[in-house]
Amino acid sequence: MTLTAGVVAVQGDVEEHAVAIERAANDRGLAVEVVEIRESGLVPDCDLLALPGGESTTISRLLHSEGIAPEIRDHVDADKPLFATCAGLIVASSDVGDDRVEELELVDVSVQRNAFGRQKDSFEAPLPVDGLDEPFPAVFIRAPVIDEVGDAEVLATWDGRPVAVRDGPVVATSFHPELTADSRVHGLAFFENDDATLPALEDSG
Ligand code: GLN
Repeated sequence: MTLTAGVVAVQGDVEEHAVAIERAANDRGLAVEVVEIRESGLVPDCDLLALPGGESTTISRLLHSEGIAPEIRDHVDADKPLFATCAGLIVASSDVGDDRVEELELVDVSVQRNAFGRQKDSFEAPLPVDGLDEPFPAVFIRAPVIDEVGDAEVLATWDGRPVAVRDGPVVATSFHPELTADSRVHGLAFFENDDATLPALEDSG
């Protein structure tokens, strides 16, 4: 049984996510085929989906113009796992407060773009994450601040602010786990979320 993993590839860290997904799957003895999503019609065949960082205004525009946005919503409605990072979190959130981003409303948080660690654009920090034994080397790059958390669970905070959240089958981080050689957060998001199902695995009994 081979899982199909979609990485939304309209913009952002595509290859890095593909590598992290393969590593997390292989660690669990699972085979996975990665598909890059640049057009509609591919998401429905995906068992799991990553929505990478990049520039949220561009990603949002392309997701809607290419007809991928409704397919991502259907994916989550079917309780299949989605992992959104940084700009992906911004696009997946319920409120950005920026007209250029049309929220997918898949994670019940409100965010503010480019507001985390204003004094330095990017930084790395050892981050304790719920579900991981050891801190995760979290890389923040012009990261969004999560201002308000609605019906979602906070998995990690940095400097008193939420930086990783889970809302049902969706896990979202304001940092970039794909930029390290550590695939534990991908593992959590895709394979250890009790609210998400991997149909391909269930079918195989
Ligand atoms: N600053 C970007 C935005 O607001 C997000 C940065 C990132 O994904 N690394 O869209």
